[in-house]
This record gives sequence, C-alpha cells and structure tokens, in this order.
Amino acid sequence: MALLITDECINCDVCEPECPNGAISMGPQYYRIEAARCTECVGHFSEPQCQVVCPVDCIPFDPQNRETVAQLEEKYRNLIAAGIAKRPL
Ligand code: SF4
Ligand code: SF4
Repeated sequence: MALLITDECINCDVCEPECPNGAISMGPQYYRIEAARCTECVGHFSEPQCQVVCPVDCIPFDPQNRETVAQLEEKYRNLIAAGIAKRPL
C-alpha cells in the first residue's frame, strides 16, 4: 500500500530526501507522494522512512492504494530496473 501525505504537512522538507524512490515532491500547497513510486520502502528499509522522520505524523497508509508485499517487491524490482530507485548499499 502506498502512503499519502495529509494537509497537516508543515512543509518541513525532511521527508523528501529520505525516499529511496524519489516518490515525494512538493505539491501545490504541501508535499505529496506519487503512489506509483511508493513501495512502503520494501526492498530498501524495514519501515517507511518518510513516516519515521515526519515530525507531525501526517503520512498514513493510503487505503485507496492497497498492495501485497509481493506486489511491493515487484514494484521495487521494476523501479530498480528502470533506474528510478536508489540501489541498496
Ligand atoms: S514509504 Fe518509502 S517509498 Fe513510500 S514515499 Fe515514504 S520513503 Fe518513499
Ligand atoms: S516530513 Fe511530514 S511535515 Fe515534513 S514535509 Fe514531509 S510530510 Fe510534510
């Protein structure tokens, strides 16, 4: 399941550089997550890094974008193959 950023976002800029898939960018009023690039950090980290760093807890899971772990792993592999995701160290 992808994550989403709510309107409680304070535009602190902390989450954007933490995303290994470049899924986070500034929207019209606050940051947003591109669901097609969000893997819940599967393949890179054991927990969603944006959630870990957000100081106001405004990055819940998106119930509209539910995916299984197998689907997230496939998404991760596709993002790596396309040169979009950072390769794990
Ligand atoms: S959960 Fe991971 S992949 Fe998804 S937006 Fe947050 S940092 Fe990026
Ligand atoms: S870390 Fe949280 S408050 Fe800061 S920009 Fe990201 S979503 Fe917004």
